[in-house]
Amino acid sequence: MNVMSYLERTRDSHLRARDYKELVREYYDTVTPFYHKGWGEYFHFAPFAGRETVRQALEAQQLLLAQKASIRRSDRVLDVGCGIGGPGRNIARRTGAHVTGVTISPTQVKTAQGLIRRQGLQERCQVLLGDAMHLDFPDDSFDVVLAIESACHMPDKAAFYAECARVLRPGGRMTGWDWIRTGGAALDEAGCNEAICAYFALPSLSTLDQIADHLRAAGLLVLEVEDLAPHSAPTRPWWDSLQHQLRSPLTRVASRLSRTLGMMQTSGELLVRGGQSGVFSPLGLFVADKPGKG
Ligand code: SAH
Repeated sequence: MNVMSYLERTRDSHLRARDYKELVREYYDTVTPFYHKGWGEYFHFAPFAGRETVRQALEAQQLLLAQKASIRRSDRVLDVGCGIGGPGRNIARRTGAHVTGVTISPTQVKTAQGLIRRQGLQERCQVLLGDAMHLDFPDDSFDVVLAIESACHMPDKAAFYAECARVLRPGGRMTGWDWIRTGGAALDEAGCNEAICAYFALPSLSTLDQIADHLRAAGLLVLEVEDLAPHSAPTRPWWDSLQHQLRSPLTRVASRLSRTLGMMQTSGELLVRGGQSGVFSPLGLFVADKPGKG
């Protein structure tokens, strides 16, 4: 990745929406090996209950979602924007359901397919290359659709939720959580959210109310929307482990030696700042049903 030219393009919100396919792919094809090494198989955040490990917190958050969706053994689950498929594999292992992941990054598909094979989950998991704005599945294909920290990458949020609703069967459930704006624009005087959008190739960030509106416009019945950030222990906010990692001497040195790592360092710092100043949360939970008989 040419970091300078990437950031030149992502500075422009119009280009972020128009060229989302190239920009998001370029971003994840570049950072995925670093995320995998630094964070493991899960590329998302979670509230911390107390002193549990990061992995425990992330897996607890995935299982919370599986519970919200009442995922059963016989279910066909779609995980839209699946990363390297980590959450899907964990949910498949715990519930016995069949999980299909879709990501726009070929690097993630390749990594995910290797992990599925190595973990012996070929019967229950698959990860495919695809664009969530135009899913390559017939109407009513899935019992459950999950979207974990991926909707923020979509250029037209209303069209994205409508596309997810299309592939969901009547009586099925869509749930996930997304990166959200939590304060009014006036609160974000430092322009933190705009900078987050630029660094992570997000066309825009929604508010929780906007997510609920999009779900309703897609014909879904909204059961729950809530920012889970305040659920984290007061002594351990969701950005706690990220902040530790960013402060480590090794990370600091590495971020000066490589433009990619430098970009990741700045982008991580922006998330921490957004969380601390209360204008941003990565944990905007939503749960919605598709009306009709299953
Ligand atoms: N849900 C995963 C990854 C979150 S990162 C996890 O929690 O581990 C966001 C993911 O959304 C990445 O995998 C990225 O490739 C995917 N994504 C973003 N835009 C997409 C699009 N238009 N179509 C498919 N996947 C997309």
